[in-house]
Amino acid sequence: MAGIYLHIPFCDTKCIYCDFYSITNHSKKAEFLNSIKKEIQFYTKQLADRKFDSIFFGGGTPSLLSYDEFTAIFDELYKSYNISDDTEITIEANPGTLDLEKLEVFKKLPINRISFGVQSFIDSELQFLTRIHSAKQAKESILAAKAAGFENINLDMIFALPGQTMDSWKYNLDEAIKLGTKHISAYSLIFEKGTMLYSMRDKGQVQNADIELEQEMYEYTMQQLSDAGYRQYEISNYTKPGYECRHNLKYWTLEEYISFGPSASSYIGNKRWTNIKNIGRYIELVDSGKPAHDFIETIDKDTSVTEHIMLGLRSVGINFEDFRKKHNIDFESAYTAPIETLITNGYAVKDAQSISLTRKGYAVCDEIVATLF
Ligand code: SF4
Repeated sequence: MAGIYLHIPFCDTKCIYCDFYSITNHSKKAEFLNSIKKEIQFYTKQLADRKFDSIFFGGGTPSLLSYDEFTAIFDELYKSYNISDDTEITIEANPGTLDLEKLEVFKKLPINRISFGVQSFIDSELQFLTRIHSAKQAKESILAAKAAGFENINLDMIFALPGQTMDSWKYNLDEAIKLGTKHISAYSLIFEKGTMLYSMRDKGQVQNADIELEQEMYEYTMQQLSDAGYRQYEISNYTKPGYECRHNLKYWTLEEYISFGPSASSYIGNKRWTNIKNIGRYIELVDSGKPAHDFIETIDKDTSVTEHIMLGLRSVGINFEDFRKKHNIDFESAYTAPIETLITNGYAVKDAQSISLTRKGYAVCDEIVATLF
C-alpha cells in the first residue's frame, strides 16, 4: 500500500540547524490550507486504484494547526482517496506547542502516532539548538500525550552537538529511555549548507564534534537502546516490537507515496517529483490548477537498483525475493564479492531470504555503500 505525506511549513522560530522548508511568517496560513486541499484533489483520478495505509504530517510544525484545520484536511483526504481503516497517522509535534487540553482535542481526530522533536533534555543544549521548549516542557508534553491516550509516540534526539560530552549524551539517552516511548530516533547533528549553524562554523564560532567521540556516542546509543528493548531497524531509528514507523518504511523500501505542500517529494510509478519551496508560488500554482512541481525525474533501472541497495542496507536489509521481483536480478549472484566482504568483516548477516547490516555495519554504512556497491 502507498503513503501520504503533508508538509505543514509553519514554525514559531527557525532552529539554527534546520534545512527543512519552514517559515515563521504565518500570514498565508489560511490560503495555504485552502491550496493544500486543492492539491489533494489534484491527484485523485491518477491515484484512484491505489490504497493508502499511512499518513504523515511533517514540517514545519504540524502541531500548530487547530482541530478544525486538521478536520478540514482529513475530510478532503478521506473524500479523495481509498484509505485503509488501520492507517498509521502521524503528526510531528514540537513540545511546547501541545498541552493536555490540546492533546485531548487531537485525540478526537484520526491521529494515532505523535513524533516529538525533543532533541535534548538539557536546557543549555536546547538553547544552543534554538529550540522553543525546555527539557521540563518536553517531558510534560510526552506525559500529557500518554495521559490523553496516545500510546504510539516517537522521540527525536540529536547527538554530537558542538561541545557535548559523552556524559551529557548518556544523560539525554537515559532520560529518553525512562519516558518509555515506543520509538526513538537518534540522529547525529549535521551541518547542512544554508543553515545558520553552517555559517556559524564558517565564522569559526562552532566546530563539529570530534569524529571519534561521535562514533563512540553512536555505538553507545545502539547498545543502550538494544539493552532497553528497542530494535534498531534503520541507521538512526529504534523501535519497541511492532512499532516500526510504517510511513518511513515506505521511503526505505521504495514503496509509493504521494505528498502535498511546498517542498514535499512524491514517488509514484517510476517518477519522483519535488514541489516548489516557496509558499507564495506554491499557492499560485495550485490555485491555477497546475502541479506545484519544482523538478521531476524518471527513476531508471540503474538508479532504482542503487537506491534499493542503499536504502535497504541503511534500514531493514535486502530481501532477495523482493529484489528479484523488482529488478529481475538475482542479488546473491550479482553481488557475490561485496556480500562476502561484508560477511567476513562482520558488517552484515545473511540467511536464505535476506542480508542486513550488523551494528558494526551500520556504523560504516555510507562507506560500505560507496565502496562496495
Ligand atoms: S521546529 Fe523543526 S521544522 Fe521548525 S525550524 Fe525547528 S527543526 Fe525546523
